[in-house]
Amino acid sequence: MTEAMSELPIRDDLRGRSAYGAPQIDVPVLLNVNENPYAPSTAVVEAVAQAVGRAAQGVNRYPDRDCVGLRSALATYLANREGVSFTAQAIWPANGSNEVMLQLMQAFGGPGRKALGFAPTYSMYPDYCRDTFTQYVTVDRTDDFEVTAEIALTAMANEQPDIILLASPNNPTGTALSLDVVETVCSNFSGMVIVDEAYAEFRRTGTPSALTLLEKFPRLIVTRTMSKAFAFAGGRVGYLVASPAVVDAVQLVRLPYHVSAITQAAAVAALEHAEELLAGVDQLRTERDQLFAWLQGRGHEVAVSDANFILFGRFAEPDLVWQGLLDRGVLIRQTGPTGWLRVSIGTASEMMAFRKALEEVVPA
Ligand SMILES: *Cc1c(COP(=O)(O)O)cnc(C)c1O
Repeated sequence: MTEAMSELPIRDDLRGRSAYGAPQIDVPVLLNVNENPYAPSTAVVEAVAQAVGRAAQGVNRYPDRDCVGLRSALATYLANREGVSFTAQAIWPANGSNEVMLQLMQAFGGPGRKALGFAPTYSMYPDYCRDTFTQYVTVDRTDDFEVTAEIALTAMANEQPDIILLASPNNPTGTALSLDVVETVCSNFSGMVIVDEAYAEFRRTGTPSALTLLEKFPRLIVTRTMSKAFAFAGGRVGYLVASPAVVDAVQLVRLPYHVSAITQAAAVAALEHAEELLAGVDQLRTERDQLFAWLQGRGHEVAVSDANFILFGRFAEPDLVWQGLLDRGVLIRQTGPTGWLRVSIGTASEMMAFRKALEEVVPA
């Protein structure tokens, strides 16, 4: 006997909704979900497989609930990559930074509480809020997709939020925040400030990370992920860095043993090969900057990007452009403000395929 979802007694606020759905279509050139296009080398694959093999020998037991080994491996990674030093107690991992965010909303949001975001921004923020019965409000960015101190302060005064969500670099625009703005927000706010740095490793030279502000602001939380630059999207590991008190709070709401022994082992092995996994990042940054110039040269509007994707437009009929590219084997993303499209940065040959397809679909 089968029954449609709509016939089930699901929550009223879930009725008529559709699940998160970046289309997973099997085409030659995948430039739609901001993955790192470089697959791991045989050496990394073997290291991960061996670590998983060892973990499998103890898989009759529950995993380390506190993920101690993974947290210290992440601390080492941040020290090497960013030159900032944190203890394992200041770091908390979960199954993707999506789960980290959900845990933060569970701990700090909830009924009667409000989160403030700056639109256009990440499409999952309203979902974390809905799932935790947190009210979600947004205020618009400037025409250049910036969040200025003035916009932030006005929004804070008008909305009186409990949580402020700042993505930097922002998705889908690629815009990084100046640290002055983060400092202004933190200095004038008693709630929690979450800076989502999923794309931090792609930022241009000179663009700072909010990690450097953590010491000064105990209610600041920086979230990161292994899904993007780190080339480990399939591993599902994200993490936060914050004061140990924040980590204590999150432990109240996390499910016990939320990160499997298999995931912990694989992630630690991957972190031991961080340099290799991140080797493609410089190339991707170069490709991004070249694509930016090329799109501008063709007369498109292009958002300045510190991430591994570019938002460009504007098109009277973006659906047709998206479909035209797909017909030529290139999948990009329809997301963000009306008339714009987002393309992830791939390998040099993938970017050539994208350019050629776009030239056909949108002749000069
Ligand atoms: C991709 C992305 C994430 C991370 O996703 P996970 O794979 O769950 O770590 C978080 N924030 C933004 C803005 C993203 O684009």
